[in-house]
Amino acid sequence: MGSAPGSEKDGGTLTVLGCDGGYPGPGGAASGYLIEASGVVVWLDSGPGTFANLQLVADPARVDALILSHEHPDHRSDADSFAVWLHEQPAAAPVAVYAPPGCRRRVYFGDDAVFSWHEVESSQQVVISPRGGGAGVVCSFSATDHGPPTLAVRVDVAGAQGAGRAHSLGYSADTGPGWSPEELGPGIGLFLCEATYTRDHEGEARHLSGRQAGAMAAAAGIGRLVLTHRRPSIAEDALAAEADEAFGRPVHQAARGRVFAW
Ligand SMILES: [Zn+2]
Repeated sequence: MGSAPGSEKDGGTLTVLGCDGGYPGPGGAASGYLIEASGVVVWLDSGPGTFANLQLVADPARVDALILSHEHPDHRSDADSFAVWLHEQPAAAPVAVYAPPGCRRRVYFGDDAVFSWHEVESSQQVVISPRGGGAGVVCSFSATDHGPPTLAVRVDVAGAQGAGRAHSLGYSADTGPGWSPEELGPGIGLFLCEATYTRDHEGEARHLSGRQAGAMAAAAGIGRLVLTHRRPSIAEDALAAEADEAFGRPVHQAARGRVFAW
């Protein structure tokens, strides 16, 4: 099972900045995660409330790149909060943003010089390197089954791809059941998967139930499964129970501030 954060030479950590699906619940935050590995800090999705929580766990000046999975506000609205903060840092270099087509025009500061914007497509790979030099991480993208262009992400330590399932991170972004983590390739040790609602809501939207998330993760041979993006109105225990059953063993729940080693 997972080791303590930072103790693995070849993996990294994932810190949950927010995990509420669709909108932040009371005192909560929508989708956002901080990935630290191989000398780089990557902010993955910037939903409402996540910039506030990022500042509790890291200096925003350490963020090397921001990845936005898609244009929906619950995954990107705090990119604008970050831009305003960056305006206060006159010496800061532009921060690289990686996002699918359509996302940039939704960000108020999308054309601002504080960002270095890169449009990415499905199957593309991006290397994010430490500013001081070093290996960094390789991010691979896969289009999911959602509304607007949406990219799932796989993160590997550069040079260590395929070295072992314990050291790859996968993130489903938002998706319906027409996508599978198998499209991110084999050997995903930790899979962060959306599970928006319980099985009685299946088919209402291009999202997953706990049952569907557990079943697709089991079929893909995932190591550890972490569920996220639960809609605040959905009971956590009911969603977790159906996911456990479909996955065949206990799943983990994302929670604000929780850290997972991968
Ligand atoms: Zn969402």
